[in-house]
Amino acid sequence: MPVHSDYSAGPAVNAPVLSLVVPCFNEEAAIALFHEEALKILEQREDTRDLEIIFVDDGSRDGTLREIKKRAERDGRVRYISFSRNFGKEAALLAGLAASRGRFVVTLDADLQDPPALIPEMLDAVNGGEYDCAATRRVTRRGEPLVRSFFARSFYYLMTKVAEIEVVDGARDFRLMSRVYVDAILAMDERNRFSKGIFPWVGFKTKWFEYENVKRSAGETKWSFWNLMIYALNGIFAFSSKPLAIASVLGILFFLTALVFISVIMIKKLAGYRVNVDGWASSVCIILFTSGIQLFTVGILGQYVAKTYTEVKRRPHYIIRESS
Ligand code: UDP
Ligand code: MG
Repeated sequence: MPVHSDYSAGPAVNAPVLSLVVPCFNEEAAIALFHEEALKILEQREDTRDLEIIFVDDGSRDGTLREIKKRAERDGRVRYISFSRNFGKEAALLAGLAASRGRFVVTLDADLQDPPALIPEMLDAVNGGEYDCAATRRVTRRGEPLVRSFFARSFYYLMTKVAEIEVVDGARDFRLMSRVYVDAILAMDERNRFSKGIFPWVGFKTKWFEYENVKRSAGETKWSFWNLMIYALNGIFAFSSKPLAIASVLGILFFLTALVFISVIMIKKLAGYRVNVDGWASSVCIILFTSGIQLFTVGILGQYVAKTYTEVKRRPHYIIRESS
């Protein structure tokens, strides 16, 4: 196994072909619909029939866990993990991936906005060996508030500019991954998890599938506009130290400007130009010089903070796709 992490369940005996990882937060109305729809599609084929469904209850406050247990009683392929409180979708995905045993793992939402009907096609793409991951993106944002679409678009633009990874516009967390790929994701041991960045970071060959936006099957979205803003900022800070570099560049610029100002003031003073207030020239020089130095050193400090930040994330140095 090329990469290993503390989280990985490792190769399991009697591993199913497919693991579905489903994060659920207050989804009591969606669980049954999801289970039925997934089975209806996946039972049609020999390979996709050999599956496990891992529901991760992310600290739901409604009857989600009860619904999941009901399903698990009836269907031995249903497994579940239930969090002590709401830890967020990223944590739920991580727990599900770590618990998965399948040769292939699919992550998808409980609300059927990630249509299970695409899974067989995605499996064929990855099973061929040419691709390690089948990813999906929404090509339309129909049914979404305009402001939200605008901010989402701006985010993808910004992210591709400042981070050294390509975050695809409209990419969903709906993915089918090979075992090597899942282990690479699990080897990303950072606390500030931002899947939309982690997926492109680990590399590998990804085949993209596109589909139109689907309305939620039941319940309502768990993301407020504010949550999404925080999520987006989190993503930028997790994958880019450019914001820190901006501070450092500004510091240098300010310092240089200060030097220019100081020269001008000194020359004016020495050349005998009249200054209105006594001591004005020397005071301004001191203020500009010291604040310039301060910003400049803050900039230097920022560079070390950035380096420390990348070090503490302890991301793998490299990820091997295959070797002899
Ligand atoms: N979710 C979760 N924890 C959270 C928020 C959401 O596990 O704190 C799950 C949710 O149950 C759903 C998926 O993440 O299965 C996507 O959430 P949602 O459908 O609300 O987001 P949207 O599709 O509106 O972007
Ligand atoms: Mg949804």
